This record gives sequence, C-alpha cells and structure tokens, in this order.
Amino acid sequence: MSSDIVTPILKRESFSDIISLPVSKKTDRQMIKGHIYDPGYGLESDDWKRDTAMKVVLDHLTKRFPSRSKKGEDVIAVNDFTFEIPDGQLIGLLGPSGCGKSTTLNLISGLETPTEGRIYFGEDDVTHLPPENRGVGLVFQNYALYPHMTVLQNILFPLQNLKGEARPSKEDMRRRAEEAARLVQIDMLLDRRPSELSGGQQQRVAIARALVKTPRVLLLDEPLSNLDARLRLQTREEIRRIQRETGVTTIFVTHDQEEAMSISDLIIVMKDGFVHQIGKPQTVYDEPCNLFVATFLGTPQINLFEGRVENGRLYIGQDAVMKVDCADREKLTVGIRPEGFVLQENGPLCCALQAVEVMGRDHSVVSTHPAAISKTIRSIIPSEESPHVKSGSVRFRLKPFKTYLFDAGTGERIPFSAV
Ligand code: ADP
Ligand code: MG
Repeated sequence: MSSDIVTPILKRESFSDIISLPVSKKTDRQMIKGHIYDPGYGLESDDWKRDTAMKVVLDHLTKRFPSRSKKGEDVIAVNDFTFEIPDGQLIGLLGPSGCGKSTTLNLISGLETPTEGRIYFGEDDVTHLPPENRGVGLVFQNYALYPHMTVLQNILFPLQNLKGEARPSKEDMRRRAEEAARLVQIDMLLDRRPSELSGGQQQRVAIARALVKTPRVLLLDEPLSNLDARLRLQTREEIRRIQRETGVTTIFVTHDQEEAMSISDLIIVMKDGFVHQIGKPQTVYDEPCNLFVATFLGTPQINLFEGRVENGRLYIGQDAVMKVDCADREKLTVGIRPEGFVLQENGPLCCALQAVEVMGRDHSVVSTHPAAISKTIRSIIPSEESPHVKSGSVRFRLKPFKTYLFDAGTGERIPFSAV
C-alpha cells in the first residue's frame, strides 16, 4: 500500500512534551563502528512519540558512483553508514562540501539507490520503494517553486497529484494547504506568485509544500544557503519551531556548523563519505572524537599546537602547560578552544601578543606561539580581564576540559585527565 495515504490534518497539538523530555539516565556513550553515539535525552521514553513520527534506520548504507573516466577510481560518496535516526527529532547532517550529505539524503528519499545496505522507515524496508511512495517531504536550496502558479497552487500541487483513494476532496485539499501555510506563516500570501516573494518567503512555501502531505520524514538539503544572513537566522528558528509543532522526523543537511549546532537534537558529522561522530551538538563540541571534528566545529576555530608529553607533563614548545595522566609521547597535536585560555601573570603558556579585538562582552586576544600550528592563536577573554598592554607577551593558564590531545598521525583523540 502506498505510504501516500494521508492523515486528515497536520499534527498541531502542544509539543511541550517534547521540549520537557525526561533526561535520560543512560549517559554512557556507545561506540558504533568506531564513532561515538551519544544517545541523547529521553530517547528511551515512548510516551511522547507521535503516530506520524518515524524512525529511519540506515543499515550499512553505501553509495558508489562509477568513475567517469576509464582509469579513474569510483567515488564512494557514502561509506558503510549505519545508524538509527530516532523518530520525531531534528537531525543535522553536517560536513564539508562533497562529503556525501546530499547523497545520503537522496538515498533516504529514494532519488538514489544504494550500492549496498538497506533503509527502513519504522519497520518498513523502503530500500527499493520509489520516492513518491516513501512519504517523504523534500526541500532544496533553490526552493524549486512553479513560477506560474500562486503560492496556494504550489502548496496544493502534491495533493492534486495523489491518485485514487489517497486523493483528498477538494475542500480537504484547500483546508490542508491553508493549514500548512499557517504553520509556516505565509497564509496572508496565498494569492501571490513566487516572483512576488522574498527568498525567505519562497523557502517557507517550499516547506509548506513538503509538509502538506504529512510526510513521515522531512528532508531539507541546505535549505538556508540562498538566504541572506539575517533571514537565514530567522528561517532556521522557524524550521526548528515547525519541526517541534509537527513532530516530524527531520534531517537537515548543512555545511554550516553553527547552523547545525543551533537547531539540531543530534548532529551527524561526515567527511569523505564516512560518519565521524554522532551526538548531541554540545557533546560533539565538548568531546570531539578526532582532530577533524574538533576543527570543524566551533568559531573561532580550535587553536592547534605541536606538543609532547614528557614525565607526565604536557609541553607546548618549551612551555610545560599542564600535568597529565597519560603516557609519554614525543609528538602529538594539542587543541585548545578559544574559551580555554585564562590570562594569568605567571601562566605557563607564553605567547606574543598581536592584537586585542573588541567583541563587546568579550575580547578576542590574538597572539602567536612558536609551537602553534595555527598561524595565530585566538583566545576569548571576558572584556574586564583583557590585557591592558597592546604588545609584548601574554601568559595563559589552560582549562583542562577545553584542552584536547590528538595523535599527530591519525588525528584520533587521546584521552587524558589533568592531575
Ligand atoms: P555534499 O552534498 O556533502 O556536498 P554529495 O553527496 O553531493 O556531497 O557528493 C559526495 C561525492 O559524491 C562527491 O565527491 C561528488 O562529486 C560525488 N557525486 C555525487 N553525485 C554524483 C553522481 N551522480 N555521479 C558521480 N559522482 C557523484
Ligand atoms: Mg550537497
């Protein structure tokens, strides 16, 4: 039976139950095939699940594109991706351009077929189901609205395409289109054509059109990339609200770490077809599993140094910055988050001050260090603690929980505690 069978009305009950989920007692992180998955909050609790919300299971999903030239190698756009996307959540699929985000989304929507592996929506195996029978709502970067149709006609379009029993009555279609328009707050624009709308409004129409069939899964591929900075901020908050109101399992693709961090329940960090880490945004930021994840998340970027551990002391160049409990190593990469520096007169890390940039509440202290891999070191210091001098040396103490050690070769994180 087609999954296009529609429920009569979009879900709009109170969603306070989702927002105030009980905190999961299960805080142990699980290892899934080498990357860390933090189970997040309340995922074991059943009572808030919506009947439309659908978990999405990716089971050893691989997509290989054959090389275009004879000698070239195949591109493995998605490499052995296994994960159970919990229902009713907003998942941020994050990674640099070309890492396989769109391909993953296209596999879930059915626009691409996997080379290996299976996809389940709930208990249904949808691996070979055509896109139109999967019950997915799709939103792309370029809105893809029909220019000759009004907003209302654009939103109605997916319903008018339904066949047989699945096709609602005319009145029902209209009611549901208006409901979807209200949800994305464009109900006053129903008679306009796309050319008469701002980019943000056009994207709302696209979202309403994706929602009008009450999809089991909503898939958004870089939906904010065409919007200017202010609209991007506003629209991403809108997407968060709409997701909460509908409770629809949503996968949001972006290359913008800040965007993913700000709206996702869980983020999946990808690179070169591989999933590197999955977890709650704060957890992934605080506990990156490797150097790539640590550098990809956070602005300003994490500061990198060459370091070593000798006799239980962590050295950055000549500076013994911290006593640590891990084994001695001749070479490793030290990462320090900008908020991990504390100005201290006799602090162990001695840097050459370059500039103090005023950011309002905080100051950004820009400096250099002979062992720094990053060209300049950026530390964020509360404005009242900012150095009074504008040149010379500055000394810092480091916060241990904002300091990370990585294998200099593989980039894998090396666990340690300060002693
Ligand atoms: P992202 O969305 O993260 O930028 P994509 O999923 O679009 O990345 O692409 C992942 C990789 O797969 C890239 O190297 C891209 O060139 C390749 N790729 C994507 N689609 C095709 C295709 N249809 N044929 C060949 N290679 C493709
Ligand atoms: Mg893409």
